[in-house]
Amino acid sequence: MLVIMKKGSSEAECTAVEAQIQQMGFVPLPVPGENRTAICVTGNKGPVESAYLMQMSGVLECIPVTKPYKLVSREVHPEDTVVSVGGAQIGGREPVFMAGPCSVETEARTLEIARRVKASGAHVFRAGAYKPRTSPYAFQGLGEEGLLTLERVREETSLPVVSEVIDSSLVDAVAERVDILQVGARNMQNFTLLKKLGTTRRPVLLKRGLSATLEEWLMAAEYLLAEGNENVILCERGVRTFNDHSRNTLDLNIVPLVRKMTHLPVIVDPSHGVGKRDRVRALARASLAAGAHGLMMEVHTQPDSAYSDAQQTIDVDTFAHIVEDAKILARLPTLFASGAAHTGS
Ligand code: PEP
Ligand code: MN
Repeated sequence: MLVIMKKGSSEAECTAVEAQIQQMGFVPLPVPGENRTAICVTGNKGPVESAYLMQMSGVLECIPVTKPYKLVSREVHPEDTVVSVGGAQIGGREPVFMAGPCSVETEARTLEIARRVKASGAHVFRAGAYKPRTSPYAFQGLGEEGLLTLERVREETSLPVVSEVIDSSLVDAVAERVDILQVGARNMQNFTLLKKLGTTRRPVLLKRGLSATLEEWLMAAEYLLAEGNENVILCERGVRTFNDHSRNTLDLNIVPLVRKMTHLPVIVDPSHGVGKRDRVRALARASLAAGAHGLMMEVHTQPDSAYSDAQQTIDVDTFAHIVEDAKILARLPTLFASGAAHTGS
């Protein structure tokens, strides 16, 4: 349930409502908003009795929240969340481009890619220092050394950096060195990791699990918000289906739905969604047309020799074309309007 306070209600009235919620055995979570003050009741198993709260001083109304996710839902937080990081605004009216190799490579190669993607329009540099690989014999990432290279990238290009954290024991080390912490598809339901990330103040990019439903994905995001981290970016990266013509099936159907159900920004990763570089540009365009707030793509100056995911890695020229495509697509009237307006329902 969501308790909406009257305009101009005092801090003491809000504190009294929070104390009452606690006394009822639940957990109160204040929800910041531009136009209203609200307190979300969490920790309840069924409906919450609102009669007592309704007559408390300063309370305007009590709204039942119909979905199991609360803090991520538009019911609780109607305005779009915009995550600001290193000059990039993720979830605003302009699409954001995150680009770079799958893995951090040598410092020289990584810096060269970063300079080139920046010159072509990237707002955020991506590269994994710790890689979750299907085979234990595949390249596992450069680890600590890779994090140092990412710091160099930020120093030299002033691009903010996103990189994956594969285990809760690594959260502090990665958070110290990168701007956005990525949760990979394989870890979307690693609840220990999510809880730990919820306590950091670094933005988190939460990829959709390999076969996660919309509700499972949003519940994973709820873990981050419930621990106090509101800077969450969702990333659709394709799901497992019977298809054998692509690595995954990019589920663009979910993009307008996510924008309707949640206030969080949603971006798309067509690289993992398709798995083949010849289709990345087409799917990048389609993602933006479906209303994604941005794209994450694997881009390299020498794609064929990328340390990992070479077959889906595009070259810098293709990336530059995608950035140009986005300028044309931005003319579609409602593309980057708020979620509710976008879905037209
Ligand atoms: C990646 O971004 O390189 C990655 C491993 O992604 P995912 O978790 O979506 O497979
Ligand atoms: Mn990859």
